[in-house]
Amino acid sequence: MPIATVNPANGETLKTYEAMGEEEIERRLQLAEATFRTYRSSALTDRGRLLLQAAHLLDEDRENIARTMTTEMGKPVEQARAEAAKCARAMRWYAGHAEELLADEVPADSDVRDSGASRVRVRYRPLGPVLAVMPWNFPLWQVIRFAAPALMAGNVGLLKHASNVPQTALYLEDLFHRAGFTEGCFQTLLIGSGAVADVLRDERVKAATLTGSEPAGRAVASVAGAMVKKTVLELGGSDPYVVMPSADLDRAARVAVTARVQNNGQSCIAAKRFIVHTDVYDAFAERFVAGMRALTVGDPMATDTDVGPLSTERGRADLEELVDDARRAGAQVLCGGHRPEGPGWYYLPTVLAGVTREMRIHREEAFGPVATLYRADDLDEAVLIANDTPFGLSSNVWTRDETETDRFVRDLEAGSVYVNGMTASHPAFPFGGVKRSGYGRELSGHGIREFCNITTVWQG
Ligand code: NDP
Repeated sequence: MPIATVNPANGETLKTYEAMGEEEIERRLQLAEATFRTYRSSALTDRGRLLLQAAHLLDEDRENIARTMTTEMGKPVEQARAEAAKCARAMRWYAGHAEELLADEVPADSDVRDSGASRVRVRYRPLGPVLAVMPWNFPLWQVIRFAAPALMAGNVGLLKHASNVPQTALYLEDLFHRAGFTEGCFQTLLIGSGAVADVLRDERVKAATLTGSEPAGRAVASVAGAMVKKTVLELGGSDPYVVMPSADLDRAARVAVTARVQNNGQSCIAAKRFIVHTDVYDAFAERFVAGMRALTVGDPMATDTDVGPLSTERGRADLEELVDDARRAGAQVLCGGHRPEGPGWYYLPTVLAGVTREMRIHREEAFGPVATLYRADDLDEAVLIANDTPFGLSSNVWTRDETETDRFVRDLEAGSVYVNGMTASHPAFPFGGVKRSGYGRELSGHGIREFCNITTVWQG
């Protein structure tokens, strides 16, 4: 894949970049290592001050960077603005909380005495340069949610961003420099995915985090595994959205539409499989399909657009194949089911019913505005369908019954359960999955400690 900005709204190539060569990569690795030697002992208050400055600059740049993101990957510009604002909030959150999240832990007195020590502490020390392999779908947010905690913990970052968002990747490097971080604290490596393994094998790189597809995660984790380096993986999702008879149906159906088509349907935590109790199935389906039909599909730069184009031509072709496979195997297309006329990589909001286990869309991630509807006879069947997926990122349930809520929280195989609402990440809450959605956590205290050397300090 060339490193280039190609506008998904019309397929026009706007800017192409040469991948960095070996010499430039070596220069940047040296710089990362040298910078870490001093940055690791900088004061938390200084790091926090720089991060606050980065948040301030990002707020100032919001309009420009939002338009760049929309140009590079097609999300509606209003959502791009919201993404930039959320990144600034996350930076402020880590600047304000890092001291408490990284404070020394002191074991119980009885355990300290039991070990024969006079004093024991657990200290969170940084690891060193961390490689972040990131996707294009939230081109700012995916990076900031790694970079803000990593920088506060005293690590330095090397970003390998997706090849279709080079301008956003370069903007991020520039943002941290302008904020006052020294040059080696955060660097963008303009490289293709084929060059990642060598960077990761380099002794100076201590760990890696990847957000993206399962094959990419597997490739990075196996190289890291061979080198015994820590990884955090945030891979795909096919989140269930369960609606029970006690739910507020109007709200559940309204939120379902947003939960499915946010970011043109290209979000790992988008609700993708809608599992509805048979007593309310028809009523929910009618509302949901009407909501999906009413969406405005079009120019992502227009403020009234709900759904823009998919990010790449390949992405749209993959989605089309999933829908066509389901249709051939007997699924009913309740709305959409094809691309609209005209240029750009658009796909109409689509709802499929009658999906069976044999269809690819039942097992694979539909990365675009395509929903599948399932009917469940009772809670047990709803849980069974919800868990019948290789993924386990997040989950959504709609019920006003406390006993049902407890059952879902106990039984759903996912990294989070959102009750009567849609999944949305927040800096204070851990984010990540189980099963093939990956491992490790981002955000919150769990996220900042993933790339720390958790050090026991024992004093006799
Ligand atoms: P990829 O997983 O291919 O891309 C994500 C990042 O990984 C990019 O920076 C990419 O670089 C890099 N990468 C890809 N392959 C390798 C590799 N073998 N070794 C090292 N790095 C690699 O996602 P795609 O854009 O191809 O999307 C494919 C599918 O992945 C989507 O349809 C969706 O199902 C899933 N996906 C999930 C995301 C999520 O948020 N969980 C985000 C994006 C995709 P480069 O761009 O240079 O190839």
